[in-house]
Amino acid sequence: MAERARKLPRKTAAQKARAAELLAALKARYPDAHCELDWSKPHELLIATILSAQCTDVAVNKATPGLFKAFPTPADYARATPAEIEPFIRSIGLFRSKAKAVHETCRLLVERFGGEVPRTMEELLLLRGVARKTANVVLGNCFGINEGVVVDTHVARLSERLGLSRGKTPQAIERDLMALFPREEWCLLSHLLIFHGRRACKARGGSCAEDEICARFCSEASQGTRREKPARGAPTTSRARPTRRA
Ligand code: SF4
Repeated sequence: MAERARKLPRKTAAQKARAAELLAALKARYPDAHCELDWSKPHELLIATILSAQCTDVAVNKATPGLFKAFPTPADYARATPAEIEPFIRSIGLFRSKAKAVHETCRLLVERFGGEVPRTMEELLLLRGVARKTANVVLGNCFGINEGVVVDTHVARLSERLGLSRGKTPQAIERDLMALFPREEWCLLSHLLIFHGRRACKARGGSCAEDEICARFCSEASQGTRREKPARGAPTTSRARPTRRA
């Protein structure tokens, strides 16, 4: 971890102060920001997060009550075949590959970790279907361990629009966020950005003109309601781009 901390991008005091102001505004706006996946045990959140890839939390939450009831422990998934898991998640996109990932992940949980969800990034990344984003979700929400920042589609979009990162990959965005915000806030930060992304700064058309947080922090706010980028080849109108702060 010390190694990673040394390599984080440098941020100025002004950039950190602006990030702190944004964080305070988001906390005031969304005091109940939390993980919107339903779970009660660490392996349930791990499985729900695997299922949520390219799928909404709402759709996952509809499927998981039946799934969690049929397979109460990691050992139950490990004993089953992927084909036996599939019917419970058929309503979710990519359900066949996700059934395989859930089965394999639980098999490894049983064989290598005594049926428990491990508490380190390195161990979690050994599990099938688990990349840094899922590992950060589990570490932060199940164990209160702020190892990194969850960068999903909402966090990536808002990080760019709110001038927090110019990174082109989730890893680069995560490192900018880790450098800007205090470590103890990393888990909550992703919830706050996701809440704002779902409620105000939507992928297609945000509440740009009327939102107070947007007016203060987003370079798009002065443009009125955000317009979609024109299709390739379509005529464009000239639009001054405000300076971004990364
Ligand atoms: S001003 Fe528009 S683009 Fe910017 S954060 Fe708000 S909703 Fe999103």
